[in-house]
Amino acid sequence: MTTRPDPGIATDATWIKNPLACWTGNTQDASNGIVIRGNRIIELVARGQTPQTTYQHSFDASNHVVLPGLINCHHHFYQTLTRALPAALNKELFPWLQALYPVWANLDDEAIFASTQLALSELLLSGCTTAADHHYVFSSIMPHAIDVQVAAASAIGSRVTLTRGSMSLGQSAGGLPPDSVVETDARILSESARLIRTYHDPAEDSLCQIALAPCSPFSVTPDLMRETARLAQQNDVLLHTHLGETEDENIFCLKKFGQRPVDYLEDVGWLHNRVWLAHGIHFNDDEVQRLGHACTGICHCPSSNMLLASGMCRTLDLQRAGAPVGLGVDGSASNDGSNMMQEVRQAMLLQKLRYGAAQFSHLDALSMATQGSARLLHRNELGEIGAGKQADLALFRLDEPRFSGYGDAVAALVLCGAQRADYVMVGGQWKVKHGMLVEYDIQEIIARHSLAAQHLTRELNG
Ligand code: ZN
Repeated sequence: MTTRPDPGIATDATWIKNPLACWTGNTQDASNGIVIRGNRIIELVARGQTPQTTYQHSFDASNHVVLPGLINCHHHFYQTLTRALPAALNKELFPWLQALYPVWANLDDEAIFASTQLALSELLLSGCTTAADHHYVFSSIMPHAIDVQVAAASAIGSRVTLTRGSMSLGQSAGGLPPDSVVETDARILSESARLIRTYHDPAEDSLCQIALAPCSPFSVTPDLMRETARLAQQNDVLLHTHLGETEDENIFCLKKFGQRPVDYLEDVGWLHNRVWLAHGIHFNDDEVQRLGHACTGICHCPSSNMLLASGMCRTLDLQRAGAPVGLGVDGSASNDGSNMMQEVRQAMLLQKLRYGAAQFSHLDALSMATQGSARLLHRNELGEIGAGKQADLALFRLDEPRFSGYGDAVAALVLCGAQRADYVMVGGQWKVKHGMLVEYDIQEIIARHSLAAQHLTRELNG
């Protein structure tokens, strides 16, 4: 690997001064702001203090609540093309998937590029600076989706963990997806190795990492799960999949493999701390303890779980058992938005319902979307505001009608339903100013995306 120059050296420092409120995500006080240099936070300025560092620039944050950039641990960007699709409305997971697979089989490079840029823009505008995408649909017309995603994401400038998904168990072999979107194990593994070699950057300030992500127990073979785990270990990359999303999955696993999903996971070498699982709902007490003991990460996806009526993740039980829990919006065909700030609110509401109003606070939800998610992606330099951490920040204003009369500024963001960040910074660079993307015209991104969506669904729409 090449050695890169430290961007913190010989760069001007900026004091983001006197915020309305600053939630650091830890016990440190940044009431009077944050000093950044290059791509890092170098100093927190406590109440009544001024920076000790010499700074050349300042940013007046007196109208802003400052948060660490939010981290979305599970998405399917391409699903933004099939939001609120009539054929998939009001269905649970398996019939919902079966309605959508034939549409997704027609995805092409243009659809992937447009949906990656749209989803990342939508996330950025909601205060999300890092996103993990799970792309698992590959076909003869679109064999190189991840290469396209890398190009689209690097242009937008968000941090991404792009997971090379896969499906190898088609309908003819007893799986759920149609045969047209499954690949051979050999191709999946050689492509996975190529993508790691070409794009995975393990550096602390990395903007692009690759992880490996067979789609789910009902769409790949146990052999592929084992071989993928081996490849990930050889290359020191993370593993991701869907698990424990529905009772149907438990029934499928018992019938097909003679095991419940967590037994299956252990059997194929996936029960460890280099794995994070999307959803993680239908676990019994013993399975919660085993996942916690293994420090296997769980990505809670509350909106999707409510829309598909999948169930409620036992987030606090998993955390108490030792499993890190992060937050994700899941695909935009089961949310149907990609708004990370709204997802924080959904997590708070659903987990209050699950555990009681006093047991889960707005700060618990924010922690899940920041440090919790950073732990899942093994990104210790992200998810909180502290000296030495990456300068990923989301700043929100409270001058909309929905906030008028608020008491606690940070609580107001979550309880009153903040939807749009005013300023967003990734690695020391402003990507959003005054609620607008700095480098792109969002209307152009929407126009391109909407054309790709019309193209993709034209057969369905007659
Ligand atoms: Zn998903």
